[in-house]
Parts: sequence; structure tokens; C-alpha cells
Amino acid sequence: MESVIVAIDGPSGTGKSSTSKAVAAKLGLSYLDTGAQYRAITWWMISNGVDVTDADAIASAAGKPSIVSGTDPSHPTITVDGVDASGPIREQDVTAKVSAVSAVPEVRARITELQRSIAAGAENGIVVEGRDIGTTVLPDADLKIFLTASPEARAARRSGELKGADVHATREALIKRDAADSSRKTSPLAKADDAVEVDTTDLTLQQVIECVVTLVEEKRAAT
Ligand code: C5P
Repeated sequence: MESVIVAIDGPSGTGKSSTSKAVAAKLGLSYLDTGAQYRAITWWMISNGVDVTDADAIASAAGKPSIVSGTDPSHPTITVDGVDASGPIREQDVTAKVSAVSAVPEVRARITELQRSIAAGAENGIVVEGRDIGTTVLPDADLKIFLTASPEARAARRSGELKGADVHATREALIKRDAADSSRKTSPLAKADDAVEVDTTDLTLQQVIECVVTLVEEKRAAT
């Protein structure tokens, strides 16, 4: 079977992570959560006293932490300087600060390089999920998907994941983070011209997974 590189982009709450992991597992591909890498570097900055409102301070520290991602879709892992960061990177404080840290060009250059080397080393191929994978990180990906969903559906899914968080507050936080991610100068959240857009608002997770698996299989059959 030919190796295949799949880029899945879109804002939060569109089902990107669940879909990407399930598609990778089903097709025997590796999986990379690039949001987890940006969260990891943000967590390191916070833990090491870097002022995350100071872009120069972030830029000078960007090369310091060692971030390692495990790419098994049934057990993705992330460590920072050898420490398991999978729990702390999901905390509210990191979520609130990650957009500012990931807008700094030196951070993006560092993490993008890491992502490209992981994708190049994935023998059977890989599903890479994020915001700028199809446009910037892997512009030659075999298949690019852009997932969307209404703000209401996205907020409802996220507050479900956060076990009962207030839907209204979650919606406001999501909209704020998407606006920051879409308006930054360096590789903003954007749909690549050749990406297939899938609106997941009225689809179940299973339907989204099947849709993406079919798109990958069609792509493989055509090459
Ligand atoms: O996907 P997740 O919500 O965990 O991503 C966290 C944050 O990481 C995003 O809000 C965005 O600021 C940043 N990110 C990014 N580029 C990517 C993936 C994530 O800037 N490719």
C-alpha cells in the first residue's frame, strides 16, 4: 500500500481530533496532533516564567524545550523535556494562552520543522491535524480536509468534552480563540484552496469518519 499524507484542518470543536485518530487507526496510519505541540510549548513557557504577553520573550525561549510526540493513534503521547504533558496541556490556563504563543513566528518555525520531520518519518503515512497543515506545513499532502461546524455545535461538543462546562462561556472562548488563530500574520487558520470542506454540524462522528475514510480510499485508488 502506498504511503499517504492526510492534512485535516479546521477550528476547534469540529471533531478534528476524534476524526483524525479514528481515520488513522482504521487505515493503519500514524497520527499527529499539532495543537498538542503548541499547547506543550505554551505550558513550558508558563511553567518556566516566560511572560506570554511578550512576543520577544517567547521568541527567545522558543528553541529551549524538547517536545516529543508519540504518533500511535490509539495512544498518542506528548512529552516536554521528558515529562508527560498530556494532562497539563488541556488545562484552562494553557487554552487561554496558546493562541498568543502560537502566533509568534519563531514558535511556528520551530514547531513546523518538528511536524515536517515527523511526517517525513512516518512509514505508512500519517494523518496530521491542525490549523495550517494544508496551507503551510504540508502543502503537498495527498489529501486535504477542512472541517467546519456551526459555532453552536462546536460549543456544545466542547462543553460536553469538558464535562458540563457552561455552553455560553465555552462558545465565547472558542470564538475568541478562532478569531485570534485566524487573524495572526504567520500561517493563520485557513482552508487550503485544494482542500475538501466537510461541514460536520449535522453529522455524527461515525459519519464524519466514514466520509474521510472514503475520501482517503478514493485518493489512494486514483494514484
Ligand atoms: O487543536 P487545539 O485546540 O488543541 O489547538 C490549540 C491551539 O494551538 C490553537 O488554538 C492554535 O492557537 C494553535 N494551533 C496552531 N496551529 C496548528 C494547531 C494548533 O496555531 N496547526
